[in-house]
Amino acid sequence: MPSVGYLYDPIFLEHDLPGHPENARRLRAIMDLLRERDALASLQSLPFKAATFEQLTALHSPRYVSQVYALSERGRGALNPDTYINAASFSAAAMAVGASLAAAQAVMSGVVQRAFALVRPPGHHAFADHGEGFCLFNNVAFAAKHALDDIDAEHDYAWSPSAVRNHRNARPERVMIVDFDVHHGNGTQAIFYDDPRVLYISIHEYGWMYPGTGDASERGHGAGRGTTINVPLPPETGDFGYALVFDEILAPAARRFRPNLLLVSAGFDAHWRDPLAHMHVSLAGFARMMRVLCELSDELCNGRMVVVLEGGYDLQALSYGVLNSLRIMQGNLADIEDPIGPCPAEEAPVEDLIATFAALNGLK
Ligand SMILES: [Zn+2]
Repeated sequence: MPSVGYLYDPIFLEHDLPGHPENARRLRAIMDLLRERDALASLQSLPFKAATFEQLTALHSPRYVSQVYALSERGRGALNPDTYINAASFSAAAMAVGASLAAAQAVMSGVVQRAFALVRPPGHHAFADHGEGFCLFNNVAFAAKHALDDIDAEHDYAWSPSAVRNHRNARPERVMIVDFDVHHGNGTQAIFYDDPRVLYISIHEYGWMYPGTGDASERGHGAGRGTTINVPLPPETGDFGYALVFDEILAPAARRFRPNLLLVSAGFDAHWRDPLAHMHVSLAGFARMMRVLCELSDELCNGRMVVVLEGGYDLQALSYGVLNSLRIMQGNLADIEDPIGPCPAEEAPVEDLIATFAALNGLK
């Protein structure tokens, strides 16, 4: 059974704006369900600390990090109408980055095989120089950057120096980031757009949908040409369509790229009951996606996989999505729970579209 760690801190609940869809109730619902099911007992709680200014500026501009700090010090503010900041936001966001760094460190050094960073605020809409779409700092990008470039060699992880040495010896050359949040991860894409060491693949709803980017023609730039893959799908795509994307695009792209580490931006807002999107995915559909990702990490990455929480705004879909994911990461495929059931409406036909995207990315 693969060893699985999780990373959580109550500070994540203090970044909060009641009435905003990205509020503390999201993570509270997840933790309540995990405790109710006694799911944490079989997981390793991984220690971590807030990222320092030096660590944060390994990826974000000093000016932007200072801006988030100053707004948070002031006690309230916003980066834009969508993205609020309160007195705890800087601490919560710096801890979320710290959790992502520690998750990558723990998996690379073999402390655990897989890890799930249960963090807020989310990150995949955060660019090097600004945040948007409820995101302050780009958590999953920090995990990738740390795995590739060791951006915090001096960090004290409260586990053995030999484990940290293991990481140095096992530094990955190629990292794959799978982003199945229903929104395009525009920040993550921009950060690695010309980096051939990072294959970024985003599967998202497209058309009249924030952030409006993530067209299939966005495929990377310069040396990174071909290591960005966008799969923009129409509203009402469901379990069948997503399964086809995983089988026809994601898995062949992974086998072609041969990553040493798999990172996942896990948002559960493609669920059919999510209030912010229009997809038809069920909890069983998310479970299948997570199963394929675990199989790919076993096949290509010695099982090494780091999952970072992104969006998901139906609290039941979100919390069961996380619970099921953790069980699958542990190799438990028998106890998948879906109290909501399949989408009552038919899903959009996407076979032709997916074949087109596969061909565009040289996968056919
Ligand atoms: Zn989202």
